Amino acid sequence: MAAPKVDISVDEQTGAWSTGGMPMLYVPRHFMMGVMRTVYEALGEAAADQHFYKSTADAAYRWCAMEATQTGLAGIDVFHHYMRRLSERGWGLFDGSGIDPLNGTGRVLLRHSSFVADALNTQTAPLAKKTCGFCAGWAPGALAWVSDTQRRGWRLHGRERRCAAEGFDVCEFIVEAA
Ligand SMILES: [Zn+2]
Repeated sequence: MAAPKVDISVDEQTGAWSTGGMPMLYVPRHFMMGVMRTVYEALGEAAADQHFYKSTADAAYRWCAMEATQTGLAGIDVFHHYMRRLSERGWGLFDGSGIDPLNGTGRVLLRHSSFVADALNTQTAPLAKKTCGFCAGWAPGALAWVSDTQRRGWRLHGRERRCAAEGFDVCEFIVEAA
């Protein structure tokens, strides 16, 4: 096992955690997935996907804006930095190298998805459904920030095309023109 690659600071007075000045929470995976599952049960799959898409895309956009200020990175480098940070924070290993920097479309691969790991925790056979819809907004949200800051005018939408929970080797997200 290796130590985390993300620097974590703890405020001695408040106990609050942060990384690069951004407040963070460290929670058990089962807690996060349990919260997500209850929303899916309450809203239904389609409405929950829509709800999470907007909130995760907005969060990705905000993260890129804050992180660009902290690091001095710009443009598509911030998107790749985001993919790397998600990977370093335990969500799974994201690879955004399949995104075309000229138009923001393409594919993002996710290996060892935490969503798949949690879903298959008590299963031995592949599921008949995808499990990573929660994070479909991350890549397009980050790419929207790239587009806005570079005046590209990209209108993008993302979705999970294949999921390792269905028996594929990796999860594959498509980002395409909306
Ligand atoms: Zn998946």
